[in-house]
Amino acid sequence: MVQLYDLVIIGGGPGGIGAAVEAKALGLQNILMIEKGENHSQTIRKFYKDNKRVDKNYKGQEIELKGTIDFRDGTKESTLNYFDSLLDKGEIDTAFNSEVESITKENGQFYVVTSKAGYRAKNVIVAIGTMGKPNKPDYTLPISLKERINFNLDKCSQKEKLLIVGGGNSAVEYAIELSKTNNVTLNYRRETFSRLNDINLTLINEYNGQEKLRLRLGMDIVSIENENGLVKVNFTDGYYTIYDRVIYAIGGTTPVDFLKKCGITFDAEGKPEFDEHYETKTKGLYLAGDIAVKSGGSIAIALNHAHDIVTHILTSSHM
Ligand SMILES: Cc1cc2nc3c(=O)[nH]c(=O)nc-3n(C[C@H](O)[C@H](O)[C@H](O)COP(=O)(O)OP(=O)(O)OC[C@H]3O[C@@H](n4cnc5c(N)ncnc54)[C@H](O)[C@@H]3O)c2cc1C
Repeated sequence: MVQLYDLVIIGGGPGGIGAAVEAKALGLQNILMIEKGENHSQTIRKFYKDNKRVDKNYKGQEIELKGTIDFRDGTKESTLNYFDSLLDKGEIDTAFNSEVESITKENGQFYVVTSKAGYRAKNVIVAIGTMGKPNKPDYTLPISLKERINFNLDKCSQKEKLLIVGGGNSAVEYAIELSKTNNVTLNYRRETFSRLNDINLTLINEYNGQEKLRLRLGMDIVSIENENGLVKVNFTDGYYTIYDRVIYAIGGTTPVDFLKKCGITFDAEGKPEFDEHYETKTKGLYLAGDIAVKSGGSIAIALNHAHDIVTHILTSSHM
């Protein structure tokens, strides 16, 4: 008989880790965290540049942490190390390299099916984030340029002519960091940056002022072509430029199909539905982290969701 867990957590990012750690701290023993990557925190590993500053009050959102986790300002590396230590200390049961494919509920129990195994649970928290499916532009991207058109920093090297596309903190942080070892242009379709935190705004103006990078603002991309294996980018002003690599940093999308398959309902604006305890219409099935915010999630927000959900599980009738 497959073991029945008190709690199965899907996704090993801040929301998932927070839920596992809080659950242990508040007395739940029988829990499992399932993560599709080979280690926890795939969004931080893949989308944060090395040595990136990690702000607790991300984008100026002041958050007071509610649970036992003492998350503070740091770097990509210190944050990953801290999460490692939390998982070790909590002796959290984990299943890595396991992508959850479906969640169903029958006779009061959940069945969680991954690419490798099936699990039974009394409660399930879905904390899969939105970066598994990065946003893509409307125009067609030539398949032949697959290696040179990227949505994270995995393939970046040095001394390349790079175009970063986007106007948020991620795009600006990528541009600043990569300009230290590459020739970087940052393209944003609007004339000014309106969503940046103060530090990034100051830095990008400083780097632009000192010509450490180039800004191409108020301009969109019309199309992309393959020019002798390099990326030819045609802009709305009628000019084109050829780059070694183009990196899109234009956010991510809620994995709607997966959530619908798990029985989660959506409101008129296309956002997943849940109540004030982050519980969906299926009792015992919760959403945490970036998939449970309208816009602009953060590590601290995900940790607080986790704490609220675990507290609710312990006081509800699902145990
Ligand atoms: C470039 C960048 C910089 C940022 N900087 C900061 C910052 O400085 N400070 C801050 O507070 N926030 C920052 N954020 C935001 C922060 O990273 C997110 O708000 C936070 O990671 C959300 O946590 P989460 O657990 O909801 O999702 P994620 O961190 O996205 O974790 C989801 C996890 O679920 C896994 N997963 C997905 N689908 C499945 C599946 N079907 N089965 C199993 N596992 C699955 C993924 O592999 C992933 O590991 C930044 C984001 C980006 C992109």
